[in-house]
Amino acid sequence: MNDLLSALSARPLLCDGAMGTQLLAQGLGAGECGMLWNAEHPERVRGVHEAYRKSGCNLFTTNTFGGSSYALEHHGLVERMAELNRAGAQNARQIAGDSAWVLGNIGPFGDFLEPLGDMTAEKLRAIFRAQAQSLIEGGADALLIETMCDPVEVEVAVAAVRDCSSLPIIATYTFQKNGDHAFRTIMGTSVEEAMERAIAAGAHIVGTNCGTALSFPDYLELARQIVRAAGKTPVILQPNAGAPQIVGEQTFYCATPGEMAAIVMPLLDIGVRVIGGCCGTSPAHLAAMSSAITR
Ligand SMILES: [Zn+2]
Repeated sequence: MNDLLSALSARPLLCDGAMGTQLLAQGLGAGECGMLWNAEHPERVRGVHEAYRKSGCNLFTTNTFGGSSYALEHHGLVERMAELNRAGAQNARQIAGDSAWVLGNIGPFGDFLEPLGDMTAEKLRAIFRAQAQSLIEGGADALLIETMCDPVEVEVAVAAVRDCSSLPIIATYTFQKNGDHAFRTIMGTSVEEAMERAIAAGAHIVGTNCGTALSFPDYLELARQIVRAAGKTPVILQPNAGAPQIVGEQTFYCATPGEMAAIVMPLLDIGVRVIGGCCGTSPAHLAAMSSAITR
């Protein structure tokens, strides 16, 4: 696939939306490892990518969010780490073909680094490097390090990818709102520090995905702050389908496709270059967002 960064300098791009909820809709059991489907039910994973392709998305995220060997330990799948990441990238590659980009998805390892936890930066770097290598073998065009809250984990993940490739790296954090216009990760990291450290580590595109109880006006303000902090580095924003509504123990994201489409042009006007969706977004949301891009 041709160069993602030069394409991005010419036009904004549309990333895809949620994967997990789409797999649940196709029968994935609660608590079951969705990544296992990369190998056991690849046609269902490819079906989700295909739905996003038809929606007009240019960037396909592999179904490998919990794909580090550390995260796979919970499912007893450590020995299948390489196979499941490779298969995840191959599934996305098959649908993206030569006309779209495959983002190899690397999520948080799921615990704390030293001194809060037991994980050392050196050990984590080797874990992320192994995952990145498998994603690249499967055909990833770029790596997406996402849903991060600790800038040190971002630095380690970016370093791990750079150890084994020169592909573009996207790094996104998840923020919550503290007070009126103050956004921080749950580790307390500010927008400025988060972006500066990701860029200094070597990320080519930076931004945010998901978020804790953020409304659309919150996302627009967050986008302004990220664009300011990122300087010349392109910015990606992958919001949830509106602020969550909690019913009992379940969380629902209820924004309609039309409501999400309405923030697309404002985000591009602010300077965001890649837009996609996180929790609660579906192919219908992305199709509406795609139609809303008028330049
Ligand atoms: Zn999310």
